[in-house]
Amino acid sequence: MRPNPASLSRTFAAFACLAAGGALLACADGAGQSGGSRSDAALGAEAQLFDEAKAWAHLEALVAIGPRPAGSGGAVKTVEYLETQLKSYGLTPVRESFIARATPAGDVPMCNLYVDLPAAGESANKAPLIVIGSHFDTKRFEGFAFVGANDGGSSTAVLLELARVLSLGGPRKAAYRLLFIDGEEAIRTHWEDPDNRYGSRHHVEQLKSSGLLTRVKAFVLLDLVGDKDLRINRDRYSDVWLYECFAAPARAAGMSRFVDGRAELIADDHVSFLEAGVPSVDLIDFDYGPGNSWWHTPQDTLDKCSPKSLGAIGRITLMGLPNVERRLLGK
Ligand SMILES: [Zn+2]
Repeated sequence: MRPNPASLSRTFAAFACLAAGGALLACADGAGQSGGSRSDAALGAEAQLFDEAKAWAHLEALVAIGPRPAGSGGAVKTVEYLETQLKSYGLTPVRESFIARATPAGDVPMCNLYVDLPAAGESANKAPLIVIGSHFDTKRFEGFAFVGANDGGSSTAVLLELARVLSLGGPRKAAYRLLFIDGEEAIRTHWEDPDNRYGSRHHVEQLKSSGLLTRVKAFVLLDLVGDKDLRINRDRYSDVWLYECFAAPARAAGMSRFVDGRAELIADDHVSFLEAGVPSVDLIDFDYGPGNSWWHTPQDTLDKCSPKSLGAIGRITLMGLPNVERRLLGK
């Protein structure tokens, strides 16, 4: 991802302006019911199930694979690891293999992976679908082994643990798709469309062609969430009401320090969903090390990340999802 992209389409820029003008705090009903309690009870039962030690073990395993750029052996090993873990939760991962054509490196084989959690009830196949995503690929670099502990690793580890927790609770009011995304990173050094977001663009096209896109009512992206000094930005492309679904309960649970970071435009996989008209939020801390100096460098290693940060974003996500469901279902 990169900040302040200059190459978004005119259509998308107009949409982003509309989104930015949307209703503030529109979905925060119930989010502040704890009245600012600082106790664990404010987190809610489900959020307490998020095990940061398990998420950290996933992160260690991903980093141990080494570089995981799209089309590499490391990416294949990553998909295999994700599949093994998801199956151990009783879930059925689906591979979405494709060839990214005519990239700066030619044709590159890529593979998204997802699991579906159906909604409860007789009309489950009509329930709104909430997609939670993370890219798992790491950026290609020559000359050093970029392991992407924070960038690609942290959010993928959190999404795996979210899969375990969400599968424990049984069907919910909304359906969920947990989407592990390949090919977010630009193949070139710099970020210039369309050399980026290969996996999310492909997935959105698949949603369109299958007719499922009309059911996708929210996309929640996690990225760069492992920084020891975690603070989620206020990404200006993200829909404000969707951001508030997560930030409001975080504030109410005494976790304000993790949210409401700097407001800026951050281009990331959520742009693929926004371009398709899906309300989206990027839960991202795009301030990694002094002056963001650890981002896309050999410094992006485990010692810059912490289990506590993985736990915080995992719990914030779980606290926010009921707000998203209430907003989408109108109750
Ligand atoms: Zn990156």
